[in-house]
Amino acid sequence: MHINNPNPAFGSELEPFHGIPSFMRLPVTRELDNVDVAIIGIPLDSAVSYRSGTRFGPRKIRESSLMIWGFNRVLNISPASELNIVDYGDLSVIPMDMQATMENITEGTKSVLEKDVKVIALGGDHSISLPLLRAHAAKHGQLAVIHFDSHPDTWDEEFDNQLYSHGTPYRRAIEEKLIDPNTYIQVGIRGPISGSEDITEPEEMGVNVQTIEKVFDRGIPAIISEIHKTIGDCPVYVSLDIDSVDPAFAPGTGTPEVGGLSSYQILQLVRGLKGLNIVGFDLVEVSPPYDHSEITSILAANLAFEFLSLLALIK
Ligand code: MN
Ligand code: MN
Repeated sequence: MHINNPNPAFGSELEPFHGIPSFMRLPVTRELDNVDVAIIGIPLDSAVSYRSGTRFGPRKIRESSLMIWGFNRVLNISPASELNIVDYGDLSVIPMDMQATMENITEGTKSVLEKDVKVIALGGDHSISLPLLRAHAAKHGQLAVIHFDSHPDTWDEEFDNQLYSHGTPYRRAIEEKLIDPNTYIQVGIRGPISGSEDITEPEEMGVNVQTIEKVFDRGIPAIISEIHKTIGDCPVYVSLDIDSVDPAFAPGTGTPEVGGLSSYQILQLVRGLKGLNIVGFDLVEVSPPYDHSEITSILAANLAFEFLSLLALIK
């Protein structure tokens, strides 16, 4: 990389190992005039059911993004040349108060969406999807959803009557009519399953559940077609739980499940979302204390770059 590279992703003439790590070294600001996309961190791990540590996810993903040079060779686009992208910093999290935290996330996200700025949220555990969906549905109406995960996250409760864990956001989102279960697809589901109802319940609600066996039996191109068929041209929110990826490729997460996607397969799936009417993204469950050699956070940073590329294509 030449130090005078004109790529606007690089806010200084210094090499990536210099300076303070914002996402892709983009400007850190809350000034949103003429901004197209805001990268927003949500450092929450209050709602996990097993290993914690996702509060350190946003910071680590930012650091692991510094080596992304800015051109997406497969999608043939430089997102930072097409879009005005900023690193908005983090939304406020109160670890022992989920209700207040969810309100902060919804209101903080709404204030960004109101300015016609799209949001890529970096978690944080998966409970952040519910307040993010509340904000996005307030702007766009009922949403379609593409949800990559090893877990359905449509359980009714965890820890005896707790409604707002990282295993329940999509049940609540259906109940609150934020999302339409008939345009909601889950991809990569495999466990841990306490009974067949963990799969059949979301299916009975209308959700298209593509278990990991279906993904591997049918192949990635068929799953991409299935996603497009399910979503059509509806405004769609994309949620990517890093544990959809096999722990061999993404060990830094709180509830790892063996037998998952490779890093290349998740990249293929995300690139396959090209052409859809995407209104928002979250990328959740990266837990740096359980990571090794930044394997997981580097993948997460690259997936966020793919999200930016998709938004640049639909600009
Ligand atoms: Mn999840
Ligand atoms: Mn999961």
